Amino acid sequence: MATLRLLAPLSGQTWPIERIPDPVFAQKMVGDGISIDPIDGVLKAPCDGEVMTLHAAGHAVTLRTAEGAEVLMHIGIDTVALKGQGFTSKVKVGDQVQAGTPLIEFDLDFIATHARSVLTQVVIANSDRVERWEKASGNVVAGRDVLLTLELSAAAEGGYGSDGASVTSAAILIPNPSGLHARPAAVVANLAKTFHGTNIKLQVGDRQANARSVTSIMALEVARGDKVYVIASGAHAEAAVAKLAEVLAQGSGDEGSAPAPAPASTTVAPLSAPPESVRRKSEDPNVLEGVAASPGLAVGEIFQVRHTEIAVTEEGEGVDAERRHLSAAIDAAKGQLGAIRAQLHAKSDAAKAAIFAAHEELVSDPDLLEIVESAISKGKSAAFAWRAAVNTHANLLAALRNELLAQRANDVRDVGRRVLALLTGAEMPRLEYPQNAILIAEDLTPSDTASLDRGRVMGFCTVRGGATSHVAILARSLGLPALAGTEPAVLDVPNGTVAILDAGKGTLRLHPSPEEITRIHAAQERAERRRVEDQAHAHEPAITRDGHRVEVVANIGGLKEAKKIAGLGGEGVGLLRSEFLFMERSDAPTEDQQYESYRAIIEAVGTDGPVIIRTLDVGGDKPLTYLPIPKEDNPFLGERGVRVGLDRPELLRTQLRAILRAAPAGKKVSVMFPMIATLGELREVKAIMAEEAARLGLPTIPTGIMVEVPAAAVMAAQFAKEADFFSIGTNDLTQYTLAMDRGHPKLAPKVDGLNPAVLQLIALTVEGAHREGRFVGICGGLASDPHAVPILIGLGVDELSVSLPSIPAIKAQIRTLSLADCRVLAQQALAVGSPEEVRALVPDPDESSLPPSAGAGGAPSAPAAPEPVPEPTLAAH
Ligand code: PEP
Ligand code: MG
Repeated sequence: MATLRLLAPLSGQTWPIERIPDPVFAQKMVGDGISIDPIDGVLKAPCDGEVMTLHAAGHAVTLRTAEGAEVLMHIGIDTVALKGQGFTSKVKVGDQVQAGTPLIEFDLDFIATHARSVLTQVVIANSDRVERWEKASGNVVAGRDVLLTLELSAAAEGGYGSDGASVTSAAILIPNPSGLHARPAAVVANLAKTFHGTNIKLQVGDRQANARSVTSIMALEVARGDKVYVIASGAHAEAAVAKLAEVLAQGSGDEGSAPAPAPASTTVAPLSAPPESVRRKSEDPNVLEGVAASPGLAVGEIFQVRHTEIAVTEEGEGVDAERRHLSAAIDAAKGQLGAIRAQLHAKSDAAKAAIFAAHEELVSDPDLLEIVESAISKGKSAAFAWRAAVNTHANLLAALRNELLAQRANDVRDVGRRVLALLTGAEMPRLEYPQNAILIAEDLTPSDTASLDRGRVMGFCTVRGGATSHVAILARSLGLPALAGTEPAVLDVPNGTVAILDAGKGTLRLHPSPEEITRIHAAQERAERRRVEDQAHAHEPAITRDGHRVEVVANIGGLKEAKKIAGLGGEGVGLLRSEFLFMERSDAPTEDQQYESYRAIIEAVGTDGPVIIRTLDVGGDKPLTYLPIPKEDNPFLGERGVRVGLDRPELLRTQLRAILRAAPAGKKVSVMFPMIATLGELREVKAIMAEEAARLGLPTIPTGIMVEVPAAAVMAAQFAKEADFFSIGTNDLTQYTLAMDRGHPKLAPKVDGLNPAVLQLIALTVEGAHREGRFVGICGGLASDPHAVPILIGLGVDELSVSLPSIPAIKAQIRTLSLADCRVLAQQALAVGSPEEVRALVPDPDESSLPPSAGAGGAPSAPAAPEPVPEPTLAAH
């Protein structure tokens, strides 16, 4: 028996481990111990020992003492998600340290504001060796007070059963976003302990860990996507391997891990449709509805595209033979993909070529191949193993909350299908279409769309997919109108049925009359003539017939769009959705990176144009993978927009510093804050900006608010005393006014910004703002809606910030209007009872929703369609 005294590693109030708001620690799954609510930011060694583990995120460290105790110290709760931010390790694994040696320095304020809790746990990971515990209570001082006194038994007799014949699982792809950190490690270790008489190990590469030991698992430093094998021998080896493999594949109880992939036996590309409940249906059986994946209008004949399923045999013909098959198929697939890429390059179609370059990468993805190899070595056929691995990968991606990554599942399936066809000798039929075809499919792959004959295909509708899928990107680059998420009934429409695909309205209308078709062809020609005409005058100002000038600026997401503004006649930026700089990344951009981006955008716009930068607007429908926002029942009513910035002031401060530094690059740069609901919020953000400006020795810049919450509109007069300008976000203002989710597929037709209730709030905002001489812009989708433009001008709105492709058309429309008429119209609109009545007041500005330019967003004629999402870069793979 040995006695071990551990000094407090931190000063602060002690807490019983049982009361920690984290069940894994509270239930002592990691081990027994104690918690400290720290008041200082240096974690010191509580005793002499060797550094056994140090988590890559720097938040947890384990020491092994000479007596064999494993002392795990875990700073904060859920701090693994901070990915090292706020932590500085002072030691490395293998270092010998003495009591009092600083182990980890941490920024207490940052952690307090960015993690669930700073409560720091000190636990003995091999608590089964502790015979007697004495735990401190009250306050402790680091390095002075004894925190734990332990009586340790002699080291356990080694081994948990015979090593006999061992059983090994197939490779398990770890889905946990932060890998096997303390919490999932504890779940695994506790499960392993239930298999008595069984020796269980986890293996990653050539390293192994005792599966019963939390610290041993943590020391493996398993990251997301790593392949882990469970190896067991002894009494319950088979059962232990099966159970642990299942739990590991499911994320070991970690919230936020992608759900386990589908079982290996599922077929390639399981084409299940989204649930019926989330689809909206038109009452007219001849009208099928979907969402616009690529804008435009087409008349054509239905052609159903079907992928036949490729059958595979499970049993292989021998490991070596199957390996040869696989490598030959992969080489052949690479050859095919390289040829497609070269053809696209030859046609100067770099965007599409890049998609296929990414497919070439996917086909030889080492992770994918390792899983396939593991199944082949177990006697499976290469085709069976490949299909299972592709499904695992695709399903894992599809389950991600990041929609951009989730949409990449279709790319994995596409590549999977190509290789599977080569492995089985199945035909990858080249799709042959009749003239004027509107293609209908459960889903189309990039390979399908790349070989589309633009001369024959007029457009397509898929049941699956979304606006951010590569198929949608390809459709936009081809200038082909397309619907995604279409009602499944579309799959039953017979080939040859004449139909009108109107992406602007999100509809596929079957059996149109010949007159209707003639009318559409005429409208298409008119719209094209008008597009050319509008573009020719795009650089002229937007002045009404009676001399009233309206500023027309652009909504953009980044530099690529900023560069297009001038060419389209845009006068600046009314909304820079800065969140796009934060998305598609694994961590937040630094202040310098943000500064560079903002400066480049300001310079691209030109020094004279206004540039309104909106601070990070995430939460609700816009998650950020590296910014943990607790799961909420009503995320649209929870931590969203400016609330996130105020909750994580460091993030906001960094962004404001970058904006303030970049602002001098232009003459009219201003900042605005999203989702402002109270004056208190505005005051807080203004104070933060003033502090940061003072620290930088720079002036503050004009500060506006987005009017998205009805409270801000109702209080516009009060806000106008403190905000420099207003920009009405009608997308959110409409959803909050009507209490209808803006992305809800069933409610979509009703979420109309021309509802008189929303117009009343716009009128109130303008009135309050103008009384104090503040200007009001509209940056929601309503500003790009030609039905809304005369009403918004009549209500007194000073600036319209619209989607890029709409700029020339909106400017041209304004030149046809008279302010006096618009005012009368606006008063009428305020007085009627429904959005339909409002729309009826405005002469139809354009019957057709033909895109103003190929591949660009058309001006919608019904409730404003969502603006085109900036296209993801291939870095998203
Ligand atoms: C809006 O809500 O209208 C708006 C412009 O902001 P976002 O669409 O980015 O939420
Ligand atoms: Mg908004």
